[in-house]
Parts: sequence; structure tokens; C-alpha cells
Amino acid sequence: MSIHRFSALFLSALAIAAPVAAQEVNVYSYRQPELLKPLTDGFTAETGIKVNVAFLNKGMLEKLKAEGSRSPADLVFTVDISRLSAVVNAGLTQPVTSQTLTDNVPSDLRDPDNHWFGLTTRARIVYASKDRVSEGDITTYEDLADPKWKGRICTRSGTHAYMVALTSAHLHHHGEEATLEWLQGVKSNLARKPQGNDRAQVKAIWAGECDISLGNTYYMGKMLTNEEQQEWAAAVNVLFPTFETGGTHVNVSGVALTKAAPNKENAIKLMEYLASPTAQEIYAAANFEYPIAPGSEAIDLVKSWGEFTPDSVNLMDIANLRPQALRLTEIADYDG
Ligand code: FE
Repeated sequence: MSIHRFSALFLSALAIAAPVAAQEVNVYSYRQPELLKPLTDGFTAETGIKVNVAFLNKGMLEKLKAEGSRSPADLVFTVDISRLSAVVNAGLTQPVTSQTLTDNVPSDLRDPDNHWFGLTTRARIVYASKDRVSEGDITTYEDLADPKWKGRICTRSGTHAYMVALTSAHLHHHGEEATLEWLQGVKSNLARKPQGNDRAQVKAIWAGECDISLGNTYYMGKMLTNEEQQEWAAAVNVLFPTFETGGTHVNVSGVALTKAAPNKENAIKLMEYLASPTAQEIYAAANFEYPIAPGSEAIDLVKSWGEFTPDSVNLMDIANLRPQALRLTEIADYDG
């Protein structure tokens, strides 16, 4: 190669590289912008890389599919293993090999193939009326089907991702026949048709419509810091049920690198930043969740709800059992 040709190539490489000076990373998020703000600000302050967050209410999968290789998104942030695995199963992600990520994210909270990484956990627990439910009245998820709860339970739709994941965990522990029976048992104990979100069930307990409900742990924090909802929270105790043969059901919020990622290196830097113990604690605190990096701790309010042993079921199993769990929910006509 002549020196002349070499320098021409070199110059054109520079010309291509030049736009990279605008260091940025693009995020599609199902998580609310205010949860991410302290972290993205911290990341930008440390690295100079700008973080653009597109907050989506729904349709992330469809959007990524439609955009294909032209998608501006580098990272997707979402909650629930079913949503993370849906993006992965659609072929829209790529694996990330990073020592920082493997050091900071416990192996049961990340994809064995490195396509998604958990960042925080939340438990799905029982909210119980302080007045009408005594300590020890309910200690397992299986108990929810006990006829002693007839007309006393409220839940959201059985087809919501949070409910389907719990049903998947039941399937893992007890198999199909027992899980259908359990769903039918819980349904026959419902005080009203499934409706509303997790907090609406606690409101129903406060209003005297039911005595126990299922909900994610962080909603206690959200209610306690909401003027109108403080009363609802004050009406309930947080109980950590377990499966008879396992622990308390947990799910994750997590992150995945898109296949199209135009800013791959910056995106991996942000993933690593988010997995660090300090960022973990900030991220978890913003939504009253549990950080997962070794050495990190939940805030005192979250810790005050009690300690629990997370269920042993692998999150990938929960994701794989989803279609079966949904089918059983339909057979039981849980929402009907
Ligand atoms: Fe939620």
C-alpha cells in the first residue's frame, strides 16, 4: 500500500470516527424516568456520556421489531422476567461479556447466555388486614386456596405478568394438576372479580372489602410515601409467604443490550455502572426494591418489612413455564 493510499484511508477512518465525539447511549425504558434520573445523571457526570431515555408505556417489543437493525436503542430496561425473556426470545438482544457484570449480578439473576442482567429484585407477598388477620394465619402461597379464606381475598387479574410469574413458580413446585386446583381454590376465595392494580387491592382491604391480597413489596413504600394512600398502607401488615417446598417468590428488574445497539461500548459502560453496588443502592432505593450486588443493602424502610428467603426456582424456569401458567389461568377462568 502506498503512503498516499494509506493516509487517504486513515483520513476517511477519522471522518467516520468523528461523529462519535457526541458520546451518548439510548435507552428504551418501561421504568419511570424519575427512577432512572439520579443514575443517568451520575453516569453522565462520571463518564461524560449522555443518556437519552425514551419512556414507553407498552409496545417495546413491537417497536424494536419494527425498527430492526436501524433501531436507535442500545439498552432496554424493564421489569419482570417474562418481559426480559420476550425481548431475548425475539432475537432483539446480544450477549454481553463483562467481568464487572458477572461479579456484581448473582448468577441466578442473569441469563446464563448473558443476554439479560437483573439489577434489582422485588418479592411478591401478602398484604394482610391488621384488624382481621392474625399473625401466623397465612404462611404459604398454598394457604391462599384454603377455604377458610372464602370471600376474603382480592387480587389483580390472573393474566398480569406478576400473577403469571407466581403461578409459574407454583407450577415449578407442584406441577400442572395441583396448580390448576390451586388457581381454582384461590378464585373461589375471591371477594370480588380480579380488577385494578396491586395497590387497589390494599385499598380494598382498607375499605373492608377483603382481608388479604397479593402484591409486590415496593408498593408498600409507594403507598407510604403517597398522601392519599398512606391510610391504605396503615391498614395492612406485610407478610412474606413461602412455597411449602421453597421460599418467597421474587422477580427482577433488569437490562439487556439490543442487537442493533449503535452505541454498544457506551451501553456496556452504563450496564456496568448500574450493576455497581453504589448505583444499585440508589436504583433500588428509588423504587423501594432490593439491590443485588454483593455488599449492597436495601434502605431501612424496605428492611423494616422483614427478612425472607427467596424461592429457589430459577427465573429462566419461571419464564419457560409462562405459557403453561397462562393456559391454566384461563382454564380456571380466574378472572371470570
Ligand atoms: Fe409494578
